[in-house]
Amino acid sequence: MAKHEHVRVAVIGSGFGGLGAAVRLRREGITDFVVLERADSVGGTWRDNSYPGCACDVPSHLYSFSFAPNPDWPRTFSGQRHIRAYLEHVTDTFGIRPHLRLGHEVMRMAWDEDELRWEIETSRGSFSADVVVSATGPLSDPKIPDIPGLADFTGKVFHSAQWDHDYDLTGKRVAMVGTGASAIQIVPAIQPEVGRLTLFQRTPPWVMPRADRAISAPERWLHRQLPFTTAARRGLLWGIRELQVSAFTKRPNELGLVERLAKANMAKAIKDPVLRAKLTPSYRIGCKRILLSNTYYPALAQPNVDVVAAGLKEVRGNVLVAADGTETEADVIVFGTGFHVTDMPIAPRVVGQEGRSLADHWKGGMESLRGATVAGFPNWMTIIGPNTGLGNSSMILMIESQLNYMADYLRQLNVLGGRAALAARPSAVGTWNRRVQARMERTVWKSGGCESWYLDANGRNTTLWPGTTGEFRRETRTVDLSEYEVLRAAAKPAAARRAPRRKETAK
Ligand SMILES: Cc1cc2nc3c(=O)[nH]c(=O)nc-3n(C[C@H](O)[C@H](O)[C@H](O)COP(=O)(O)OP(=O)(O)OC[C@H]3O[C@@H](n4cnc5c(N)ncnc54)[C@H](O)[C@@H]3O)c2cc1C
Repeated sequence: MAKHEHVRVAVIGSGFGGLGAAVRLRREGITDFVVLERADSVGGTWRDNSYPGCACDVPSHLYSFSFAPNPDWPRTFSGQRHIRAYLEHVTDTFGIRPHLRLGHEVMRMAWDEDELRWEIETSRGSFSADVVVSATGPLSDPKIPDIPGLADFTGKVFHSAQWDHDYDLTGKRVAMVGTGASAIQIVPAIQPEVGRLTLFQRTPPWVMPRADRAISAPERWLHRQLPFTTAARRGLLWGIRELQVSAFTKRPNELGLVERLAKANMAKAIKDPVLRAKLTPSYRIGCKRILLSNTYYPALAQPNVDVVAAGLKEVRGNVLVAADGTETEADVIVFGTGFHVTDMPIAPRVVGQEGRSLADHWKGGMESLRGATVAGFPNWMTIIGPNTGLGNSSMILMIESQLNYMADYLRQLNVLGGRAALAARPSAVGTWNRRVQARMERTVWKSGGCESWYLDANGRNTTLWPGTTGEFRRETRTVDLSEYEVLRAAAKPAAARRAPRRKETAK
């Protein structure tokens, strides 16, 4: 068991969020930090999701850090292997390795009101930290629905994020459950090799063509020789997506034209009117994430594929029963059923002021101040927190905005000096969330007539940001101290280690 270590900052997770935080800390001159990661390598999403066909669905030149441009992206939408390699490269280039504590799963962290610091228990020893940056990922813990009889299924079962590469699908009867972003990449990748593929579709997605192509050697050469061309390419990709935002957030009716394009994309590949009817969504495009693929519909049109337009309801031995009564025999079930999103898995492990867990605090739905801090949880912030997700652009833009906020937060703590902590005021959290939720009313996610993983159990959208990434950047540039209460540890004579803390009102 490792000995106790105290650090200024403990970052949890080593995906884009945690690694980005680590780079930013070093750039701010802070080296007294650790990155606690439960797995044995970095990469987060891009380490765990290695399923056939896995790739980003935002162009690579935008889906990468602005401070670490990669002139050598091989494709416009690069595959998992290359994105994972990119994150390993970032880890080495920015000197993050010495800070990594791999194989350290955070089991619990509790706020010590007297010492004004977090006590952290991991699977391999304990740490304490003045500040915790929790970057445990919005799509990190796979979710498999509770299907009656699944435990007794006689074949193989796995989730898309836990692909079993030792299991050979050749000639097998495969049931793919789900039609989200992962499923539509998996289906065309495995269809040619499997014996029979049955897709269990609860709701059909809207699928648009994907402008995927290899980035040519001369283009890459140009990006290497003239770095501003990489930045210009990124800027263009970003600008196009910023212009799309108002259709999602204010004028969903404008999306009708996009629906026609998506229908034409389907009609090109799906000639059978019965199948086309099954695959045509009945909700407004954009209400769920718009998916991009050139190969999904052509794969569904192949003779070894069946689409069951109903969810999987029950498993009886090796027979899968859909909600519409259809029965299908299968050798393997692949769940592309997403992740625990609105029930953040780290939340029960975070214990804040007055011994209250974050899961308990968020019982009525996730809420934070500017997507980062939470009332009752001083000096704790999350990367990709509530209402920071995007429907149409790169999450790296949001992560980098949150890193600006984190950097300013730490600067403010330094200015305050001594042992100090910042606690988000409930009133500030309330104001922020009322603003966010008021804007949500007009969005396609709320009015588009679908149920999606963006919504929590109460039907509230606590995942997406209802604005442009530029707006979010402006909202998180600096920490407004009036939104926080400053906590200070009382000066401690050696004999009085548990002296009560003082409260101070921020200017
Ligand atoms: C298949 C797939 C494709 C995607 N494609 C895109 C895309 O094209 N564009 C886009 O913008 N977004 C995409 N996303 C969303 C993606 O999750 C984010 O873009 C981004 O990678 C999230 O980074 P993160 O660091 O916040 O989380 P993650 O990458 O999930 O990293 C979280 C890390 O925290 C660790 N962790 C969790 N709990 C603990 C614990 N208790 N103790 C210690 N460590 C812990 C995990 O092991 C993991 O390494 C995709 C997601 C998936 C699943």
